[in-house]
Amino acid sequence: MAHAILIVDDDIAVKESVEEFLTLMTYEVKSAENAFQAIEILKTFQPDIVLTDIMMQGMDGLELTRLIREKYDSDVMVMTGYSADYSYEEAINAGASDFIFKPFRFEELDLRIRRMLREAAFKKERDKLLEDMKQLAITDGLTGLFNSRQFFHQIKQEIKRFQRYSRDLSLLLLDIDFFKAYNDTWGHLEGDRVLMSMGMIIASCLRSMDSAYRYGGEEFAVLLPETELQEACVVGNRIKENVEKAVFTPEDGVQTSVTVSLGAAQLINGEDFTSFIKRTDKALYHSKKNGRNQLTAAS
Ligand code: GH3
Ligand code: MG
Ligand code: MG
Repeated sequence: MAHAILIVDDDIAVKESVEEFLTLMTYEVKSAENAFQAIEILKTFQPDIVLTDIMMQGMDGLELTRLIREKYDSDVMVMTGYSADYSYEEAINAGASDFIFKPFRFEELDLRIRRMLREAAFKKERDKLLEDMKQLAITDGLTGLFNSRQFFHQIKQEIKRFQRYSRDLSLLLLDIDFFKAYNDTWGHLEGDRVLMSMGMIIASCLRSMDSAYRYGGEEFAVLLPETELQEACVVGNRIKENVEKAVFTPEDGVQTSVTVSLGAAQLINGEDFTSFIKRTDKALYHSKKNGRNQLTAAS
């Protein structure tokens, strides 16, 4: 794909010769005679690089550079004459990536443009890698839900928010029933399939503010901000019913299903995250003791 460049210069001779050269180098080129024209073009054209003169009537190139760095993705290279009162530092401080003195040889311009494009591509790759790594660090690989590390991070954040703005916060804990027996009967790989499906079922029952976590081996948590206990129970029961309805085929001709037990609780004033989790876990334990495949709301 051809890289795109926008040239901004009120010196028509410079503008046209640079435009001709860059077009010859197979860049996609547009040009403007002043900053205002450039801003107009930027509304519909996303250049990789804006190559702008500094000294221009109306808005100068440094001001244009600041505006581009603030509002657009393009990198900026500024051009200036030797006699001009502008310095390299001013251009860099305004957000320019490079600086070239006029008159320049086209070979030099070409090299500088290539270097800028290389650096931009490198930076983009690095940002993507960092973003991927951040995502990996908080995700459970098997289910695609958030992992337990993120659970403890997030529950603390939500409790802070609760304290600051006195918003409701509810928690669901889920544990698959007799899962050891499922593994023993159908094998660990088939057990993993159930866990993957659990991730999808839970995710499909959430509202936009809710978040779901694989909290332990076959234990899941759902955080429900701005949610009272009763509403949390509605979400929990919906998950429970959808789990019960899901059909698994661990072997040809065999159809089976699993159930979950749940505990639900709403955060109480002054409660910390350990006590909140403990209370929800107690409700879950009650569901187990009472026959499983049910939800218990903590009092
Ligand atoms: P209960 O109804 O009381 O919860 O019984 P349970 O058998 O589910 O409970 P228990 O805690 O005894 O066993 C949990 C099982 O979950 C044991 C373990 O083999 C299984 N498990 C934990 N993590 C994984 C996993 O990542 N993959 C698979 N396939 N199984 C797992
Ligand atoms: Mg368990
Ligand atoms: Mg279990």
